[in-house]
Amino acid sequence: MEIDIDSAIAAYCARQGLQGWLPRAALIDMDGVLYDSMPRHAAAWQRMMREQGVETTLEEFFLYEGMTGAATIDLLFRRHLGRSASPEEVDRLYAIKSEYFRSQGERIPMPGAALMLKELQEMDITRVLVTGSAQASLLTSLQKDYPGAFSAERRVTALDVTHGKPHPEPYLKGLEIAGVPARDAMVIENAPLGVQAGHAAGCFTVALTTGPVPEKALREAGADIVFPSMQAFAENVRRLVRYSAD
Ligand code: CA
Repeated sequence: MEIDIDSAIAAYCARQGLQGWLPRAALIDMDGVLYDSMPRHAAAWQRMMREQGVETTLEEFFLYEGMTGAATIDLLFRRHLGRSASPEEVDRLYAIKSEYFRSQGERIPMPGAALMLKELQEMDITRVLVTGSAQASLLTSLQKDYPGAFSAERRVTALDVTHGKPHPEPYLKGLEIAGVPARDAMVIENAPLGVQAGHAAGCFTVALTTGPVPEKALREAGADIVFPSMQAFAENVRRLVRYSAD
């Protein structure tokens, strides 16, 4: 499949009133982008909620992806139990869900992610991690799996924001850390709510179909371009970044 990079950038520039696009930073989501972790998150969520007497589908968690754990628990409570979750319930249930996630073993790096990070590094693109996760086990493993790709201060997690995705706040915080305006950054996402957040922040938003969410849902959420896998994106990231540098 040929991805029309030129048209995607031209459309973004037209929308933003730009003459050209020179990305200097990449704001990168974690679950489903750097790690093939979404199936395990979905299984952990389903198991935890089943113990609360609530039946869910695995698919629905791919649509909630990007929200903070607290927001997901509250949504499930309101939807299935007709009330909000208390802060105590949120803390307790998120800890259980996190334990069920951890118990499934080692994280699986997303194929192609290491190549993407190497290419970004070589092109001197500033990398900032922007995740709805607050899971220390995932965050500490980044250095091991992707050495040198993210410095410790270039991270936005669920603990750093008031409003999680789809609110733009996580990506606006990411821009602040990167020290660039929205037009100079690209967001790399796999979930509709994350794409919405990147789009609302004003960034060129790259979406990857790394799970069951269809391309159409990512486009409707505001993706500027969609790649069929992380590997496909990694192999094209030089074309994307060098477009306006040529
Ligand atoms: Ca994600």
